[in-house]
Formats: sequence, structure tokens, C-alpha cells
Amino acid sequence: MRDKYKTKDQLIKELVRLRRQLARLKKTKGEIDLLTGLPNRSLVYDRLSQSLLHARRKGKAVAVIFLCLDNLKLINDNLGRKIGDKLIKETAKRLKNSLRRGDTVARPGRDEFIILLPEIAKMEDAIIVTEKFQSVLGTPYLIGKHEIFVNARTGISLYPDDGMDADTLFKCSYTAMNHAKGDGCAYKFFSRSMEAKARERLTLENGLRQALKKAEFVLHYQPNVAIKTGRIIGMEALVRWNHPELGIIAPSNFIPFAEETGLIVPLGEWVLYRACKQQIAWQETDIAPERIAVNISVRQLQEQNIIETVSRILKETGLSPNRLELELTESFMCNDDGEAMTKLLKFKEMGISISIDDFGTGYCSLSYLKQFPINKLKIMDFFVRSIAINHIDSAITKLIVDISHLLQLKVVAEGVETKEQLVMLSSLGCDEVQGYLLSEPLPADLATNVLSKKTCLF
Ligand code: C2E
Ligand code: MG
Ligand code: MG
Repeated sequence: MRDKYKTKDQLIKELVRLRRQLARLKKTKGEIDLLTGLPNRSLVYDRLSQSLLHARRKGKAVAVIFLCLDNLKLINDNLGRKIGDKLIKETAKRLKNSLRRGDTVARPGRDEFIILLPEIAKMEDAIIVTEKFQSVLGTPYLIGKHEIFVNARTGISLYPDDGMDADTLFKCSYTAMNHAKGDGCAYKFFSRSMEAKARERLTLENGLRQALKKAEFVLHYQPNVAIKTGRIIGMEALVRWNHPELGIIAPSNFIPFAEETGLIVPLGEWVLYRACKQQIAWQETDIAPERIAVNISVRQLQEQNIIETVSRILKETGLSPNRLELELTESFMCNDDGEAMTKLLKFKEMGISISIDDFGTGYCSLSYLKQFPINKLKIMDFFVRSIAINHIDSAITKLIVDISHLLQLKVVAEGVETKEQLVMLSSLGCDEVQGYLLSEPLPADLATNVLSKKTCLF
């Protein structure tokens, strides 16, 4: 009986211990990043709060380093997520191995790491650690058969100079990291002037949301001209933000941001709708080009309902699918798991043309051109710029033209600015040209005038 009681007591104790362990496990599971095993955002927040208490008592400084991998998105897009994940794991390992005991490395998000250096003596200590990171991450990564180079940007904030609490210090290091990115530096310390810029960014995001509601976007149209006849065969719709105070803002100033925030999806829908409507208006007055071309971001193509969206807009505007061309940059083709291919085949089935925009910017192999249902290749202006003076650029262009023709694709040269470039492109067998030499992108009324003349643009 005594023995039995002892066993029961032990059993209860064991149960209590197991329950505590389970509770602890559950708690840490929610605080650990599953991919790397590093603390996640909430655990690093707790650790920083604790470090700040100690530092306050001892009168020491604390450094918060926000590190972001520059090219993870590009690697994911071009080499696939699995490679991207391996790269993150390897980065976590390298960072962990280069830290002292007592320092913390955490992974709060996709391509982000936070490093806490509690109790540093001076600012230079944070620089030494940051430079060490640059060095360990600077060694090429060998993942599978790929040799990958990683670029990391870091932002540093310090307790007590930049803030007294964890929230503020995280925010400051993040802001500093964004500045390092923007200025192309390896690292930056937080400064007060950065706050003003961070506010500007927030204003831009809010401004973009509002601009969509207030219909502040406009489309300009740039002619696409057949090289043999000089006649317009297409118009490319290019969006601009007509800001009430700042005037016309070019897409390069807001499209990347719209892609980052997902706002490109409603904005892209609006662009497609407006462009289709315009083409219908030109068709009604019998001046329409063969096709209207609309740029589609990879982010839009990834939308589950992109086919339905395009079909709906064609139906609503009454535009026939064979009068529409969608322009996509080549990055969507690399490491496609079949989803993009299925969507493109559906577009083809509907009668929509597909162009590859800015060809030559990405990492895609030429063999993809054979696999995907593509109609046109637009050679980026980088090659066109020196085509008349640089024999390597003209040789590359000739190669692209010949391969494209073999694959029965039409070739368009972008950014044609001089007569010499035009003559060279013609001799290389290019089919179509687009550029300031023929016409800048024009507001709808001026584009209508150009179309009405139905003349040769050369
Ligand atoms: P893109 O689609 O490759 O468009 C061509 C860009 O080159 C346009 O810049 C055009 O104005 C510019 N361009 C045309 N001819 C010349 C020339 O002779 N010389 C030079 N230097 N440039 C020339 P833009 O309008 O600023 O657009 C820039 C990029 O923004 C576009 O490149 C496209 O990637 C993106 N974009 C524009 N509108 C949209 C849109 O509605 N949706 C999406 N997703 N992206 C858009
Ligand atoms: Mg384009
Ligand atoms: Mg282009």
C-alpha cells in the first residue's frame, strides 16, 4: 500500500512535469521559426525587452541589427522556393556561427534576420559584428548545382541613443536597413532624418490606395511600328499617376511599390479595363491598331483568378481576345511548376497574344521560349542602345532575332531613339520597333490623332 501510494505520488509528479514540459514546448513552438530553428519575431521581442532591462541597470548599450537578403525574391523566382529555403537555412547557420555567446539571431520574416547584441561597449562593436556578417555571407553559397552570391543589407539601431523600448529599436533598425538598401550600402546606422523618409513611404502607400479610389491614374499609349511599312500595328498602354500636387509620376516610381504591397492587382485590373475600352473606342472610329498591349506583372499572373479577371474585362468592354496582347517579363518562366504554363495556354486558347517584355534582363534559358506559348519577344533597350556602334550588341540582337524566327516568334526592339539604330535593326531582320524616334508614349487624345493620320512613322 505504502509502495502503491509512493508510485501514485510519483505518477502525479511525473504527470505534472510532463504537462509543464508540454506547455513549454507549445510555447516555444510558437516562438521558433520552423525553417531555421531560430527565434521568431515574438521571442526576439521578449529577449530584447529583457536585454534592455539589464542594460538599463548596468548602464550599457544594446545594438539591434536588422539584416535583409537582397536577392531572395529573384532567387525564388528564378531557381525555385526549395533553393530559396536552403539559402535561408545556410544563412541562419552562418550568422549563428559568427556570433558570440549571449548574442541572439532571429528570423522574423521571409528574407529578414534580427541580431541582438546585448551589452556592447561602443558603437564600433556593432560595426565589427556587421562587417563580420558581410564577410561570412559574402562567401558564395553552393546549393545543389548552383553557386549563389548573396547580398545582405543591414540597419543598426542603438539603445539608448535611438530608443528606449523594443518597438522603437526594431522600427529604427528596419528603417536604417531600408536606407542601406536604397543607397546601395552594406549597412547604415539609424538617424533621425530617416524617420521623415519612412513617413514619406507610408504616405506613398496611402497615396496609392487613395489614387485608385480617386481615379488619379491615366494611360499613355506608345505606338508599336512594323519595320517594313512604318505603320502602327499596336499600341502599348503605359500607366502614369496624375498626382494632384506632384503632377505626372512615371511607373518606375510606383509600380515596384504597388507590386510589393499587392496594390498592383487592383491597379492592373483598372489598366486592363481602360486599355480595352480605348481599343474599342478606336475600333468604333475605324482607326484601331491590330492589338492593344497591356503590361502584366508576375504578381498579377500568380493570382488564382487571373483568367476569370481577363475574361470578365473582355466581356464587359466587348473587346475580342485576338485584339489583346499581354506583356510579361521573362522571370515567370523560370522554375514554373506548371501554373504559369497552364494560364498561358488558356490565354492562347482564348486567342490572346503573349509577349515577353524586356527580354535579356532575366536569367531565363532560351529553351523556355520553345516551351511556352509565346507570340512575341521584345528585346530590352539595353541591347538596342549601342546596337549601331557596338558589334557585340548587334551580334547578340542578331542571334535573338534568328532564334526567335526559328521558333516563329515576332521580334520587337524597344527604346529605338536614332535613325542608325532603326537601320541596323532593319538589317538584322527585326520585325517591329518601338521608341522615341517614332513616338513617345502619348495621352489618349494625341494617340488618337497619330492613329487617325494612318501614315508611315519613318
Ligand atoms: P516597358 O513595358 O518595357 O515599357 C517601355 C518603357 O520604355 C516605357 O517607360 C517607355 O516610356 C520607355 N520608352 C519608350 N521608348 C523609349 C525610348 O526610345 N528611350 C527610352 N529611354 N525609353 C523609352 P515607362 O512608361 O516609364 O514604363 C516603365 C515600365 O513600367 C514599363 O516598361 C513596364 O514594365 C512598367 N509599366 C508601365 N505601365 C504598366 C502597367 O500598367 N502595369 C505594369 N505591371 N507595369 C507597367
Ligand atoms: Mg511593356
Ligand atoms: Mg519593355
